[in-house]
Amino acid sequence: MEAESLPVGPAVPLAPGLYLVATPIGNLEDISLRALRVLRSADRIACEDTRQTGKLLQHFGISTPTVSYHLHNERGRAEELVAQLREGARIAVVSDAGTPGIADPGETVVRAAVEAGVPVYAIPGANAAITALVASGLPAERFAFRGFLPSKAGERRSALEQVLVELRAAAEPATQVFYETPHRILDALADVAAVFGPAHPVVLARELTKLHEEFLRGTVAEVQAQLARRDTVRGEMVLLLSGSVAVETAAAQSLASAVRARMALGEDEKDALKHVARERGVGKSEAYREWQRTRGKG
Ligand code: SAM
Repeated sequence: MEAESLPVGPAVPLAPGLYLVATPIGNLEDISLRALRVLRSADRIACEDTRQTGKLLQHFGISTPTVSYHLHNERGRAEELVAQLREGARIAVVSDAGTPGIADPGETVVRAAVEAGVPVYAIPGANAAITALVASGLPAERFAFRGFLPSKAGERRSALEQVLVELRAAAEPATQVFYETPHRILDALADVAAVFGPAHPVVLARELTKLHEEFLRGTVAEVQAQLARRDTVRGEMVLLLSGSVAVETAAAQSLASAVRARMALGEDEKDALKHVARERGVGKSEAYREWQRTRGKG
C-alpha cells in the first residue's frame, strides 16, 4: 500500500469530501487510526443519533460539531450536506454502530454527493455481517447479505421461500446472511426450519466483539433448542444459513443430505450420523444402513 494513495495521512490535511466512517459494533478498540483522524479533522459529523455518537466522540476526546442524519431527515439533510460539500466542506457520516449505509443511513447522501461530483471516501472498519461470516465456519467465499428479514410472519416466510428458490437455481451455493433482533429470532428460526427443514445448518452470531460474544452453530433445530432453554434471548445478532440446499423439498430432506450438510460444517461422519439419527428419532445402526444405501444419491 502506497502512502500517496491515501486521501488522509498524518502530514496531509483532510481533503474536502464526504467520508463514510465505520465505527465499532461493540468493542471501542475496533476503530481505526484513520477513522479517528477523519472524525477529529472533519468540519462536521453527520450522525444517525447525535447522543449515541457523542459518547464515542467523548471517549476519544473529539469535539467536532455533530448534526443529525437519520431515516426521517435523510433526504432533506443530504441536500444541505451536499450544498456544504460543494463549497469544499469535509463531512463525516457515521451510524450508531458499524458501517454507514449497511442497514443504516448513508446511501442517500452518497448518491447525492456522487451526482454533485463531490469526492466520497469510505473509511473501512467494523461491520456485523462480515464479522459474523468470517468466524461462522460456513463458506465465506460466496455469500449474500440480505439485511433484516421482514417482521411480519407471512412476509418473512415468503422471503425465505424466495431465498430457497434462488439457492436452488444458483450454480454455486452462497451463505445467506441476515440481521435479526432478539424478539424475532425464535419466530425467524421456526420459519427457517419450516422452509429449509429442521436439519439445515445455521449459525447465530450474538454480541460480536462484546464481552458475551457467542456463536451458536448447528442445525436449525439444535439452535432453536439451545435458545429455548434460555430464560430470555438478548443481544444483537446475525443469522447465517448454509447456502447448500438439497434438490428435493427441504422438509423432506434425505438423511444423506442432512449428514452431508453437517459434514460441510466440519463434523466428522460418525458425529454427523449420530446427530442426524437423534434428530430423526431413528437408531444409529438404522441411520448407518440408510446412509450406506443412499449416500451417493443426493
Ligand atoms: N451498519 C451496521 C453494520 O455495519 O453492521 C448494522 C446496523 S443494523 C441497524 C443493526 C443490526 O446489526 C443489529 O440488529 C444486528 O443484527 C447487527 N449487529 C450490530 N452489531 C452487532 C453485534 N455486535 N453483534 C451481532 N450483531 C450485530
